[in-house]
Amino acid sequence: MADDASNMAEKLAQLRFQYAGRIQDRIAELETLIAGLNGEDASGRNGVLELLRDAAHKLAGSGATFGFPGVTTVSRNIEHLCVAVLEGRDSSENLMERLRNMCAHLYDAAEVQEAAEPRPTSDAPRPAAPHLHGSSRQTILFIMEYDEAVKTRVLREMDHFGFETRFIDHPAKLHDHVKNYGPVSAIVTGLDFDGEDEAALKPLQAFRDDDANGETSIVVQTHVDTMQARLGAVRVGAKAFLVKPVDMADLVDVLDQVIHGVDDDPFRVLVIDDDESLARHTEVVLQSAGMETQVITDAMDLFEAVESFSPELILLDLYMPGCDGQEIAAILRQKEEYAGIPIVFLSGESDKDKQLLAMELGGDDFLTKPIRASHLISSVRIRASRFRELRSFMVRDSMTGLFNHTTTKQLLETEIARTTRSGGKLSLAALDIDHFKSVNDTYGHAVGDRVIKALARLLRQRLRSADVIGRMGGEEFAAILPDSGVDEAEQVFNAIRQAFEDIVFRSDRTSFNVTLSCGVAAFPMYDTATTLSDAADKALYAAKHAGRNRVVKVD
Ligand code: GH3
Ligand code: MG
Ligand code: MG
Repeated sequence: MADDASNMAEKLAQLRFQYAGRIQDRIAELETLIAGLNGEDASGRNGVLELLRDAAHKLAGSGATFGFPGVTTVSRNIEHLCVAVLEGRDSSENLMERLRNMCAHLYDAAEVQEAAEPRPTSDAPRPAAPHLHGSSRQTILFIMEYDEAVKTRVLREMDHFGFETRFIDHPAKLHDHVKNYGPVSAIVTGLDFDGEDEAALKPLQAFRDDDANGETSIVVQTHVDTMQARLGAVRVGAKAFLVKPVDMADLVDVLDQVIHGVDDDPFRVLVIDDDESLARHTEVVLQSAGMETQVITDAMDLFEAVESFSPELILLDLYMPGCDGQEIAAILRQKEEYAGIPIVFLSGESDKDKQLLAMELGGDDFLTKPIRASHLISSVRIRASRFRELRSFMVRDSMTGLFNHTTTKQLLETEIARTTRSGGKLSLAALDIDHFKSVNDTYGHAVGDRVIKALARLLRQRLRSADVIGRMGGEEFAAILPDSGVDEAEQVFNAIRQAFEDIVFRSDRTSFNVTLSCGVAAFPMYDTATTLSDAADKALYAAKHAGRNRVVKVD
């Protein structure tokens, strides 16, 4: 697979090189068409414009594919101008002159790129493949890795992990390198940040500033673990900080995590406001910023919402009938599992004393209505992302010792990346205890907890050590089985289901049994974490609907 991928990278580089040579001809064709406008009447002119429009459209599309963004931009402008004239939205005054000017820009755009494009040779680093759908090969650029032994290992071992590696000796070469060889998924820098090495820091900072979408993750490997070094790493926007010597397997794990992090998951915000229209307004603002929201207008629905939605921030109105925001905050703070969720009051109350009083009972921030949309969005985002970050440090669920929700999701991403590279199998199971509410209601919460712990123990005992078992919340679990297909996983979980059913729980003088339902789905039928989780959840839902106490697989 690695060979296929590097072959492909080479072929693409060749195509790109050939394309660069042909661009001049393509532009000349456009110029010929433009010259043909001379002396044409209206209908003849439109015919030529249509040809020109199509040719520019084609050039725009291929320009981007082959990494000539300037060519694409200018070609698009030509295309749009043709369309505007054809649709009568442009007066067509000085049309030929304008088009000729654009062609001149087109030559410039092609030339700049060509000058910067080195001829691919066998010993030059391989140009990166453009972003291909389904292509899992990531390019990692090492900067300032001077240790020849490490370099050799990196070259050999990173290839096994499906990474393509390149080296430059100084950050100053970063900009040109990326321009010439294409974008990289991650940068691993050996910068030690010990003195004030501006010449080394500046290019990294400039790179981070240009990379507004964060497409490239920066990982720092240093010899020293000092405040100064960590500060330097933070200042270049590093996502991970490793102290040398770094184990290659650890580095690969870190790279998987920073490249496939769960950070792009939308933040989940619970909005509690008795005024539904105000709540909807808040919801729309947050959704416009890509967040996921849930609204409740009745405080009594609080626990259910927190449990089913697992919000990463709660926006709370201060004054509500029945139960006010302060009380809700106090209630949330009493429950250990909810105590960390940030609570932000959003209220018309402008009296500072009253605001502070509300905060004393557990609020983290107080925003006053009306509030600018951008202000609301950034306040929410800052707190929610901090919460997510802290959560991610807590790897395990305290009650069962299983991986928590965040970690399980992260591990699923990592496992999928690994399986994509190895071309192997992977199954995901979603489990949920049946009628658990009635277990709690009949025998009490403490007994319910015992049931959850028993299932956790059973899963640990029955699954292999390479399998990932997570408690996704409440009485819901997930298990990732690397190297298992959907049929095998179905068998495993059917056995677990039967074993669980046989466990006799006791409470006072009665004994009872509990059952579980399970949905199983597998990679590569579902090849992303999201589609795979959704498929397993759907199968679980189907198992519930079919009568519970069963395993449903998707195949
Ligand atoms: P279904 O068969 O459809 O899954 O029904 P259910 O009653 O299991 O489903 P539901 O999701 O409605 O109820 C889950 C209950 O689990 C609600 C919640 O109070 C309880 N629960 C969640 N976490 C814990 C916990 O840590 N301990 C205990 N004892 N109960 C919990
Ligand atoms: Mg249940
Ligand atoms: Mg449930």
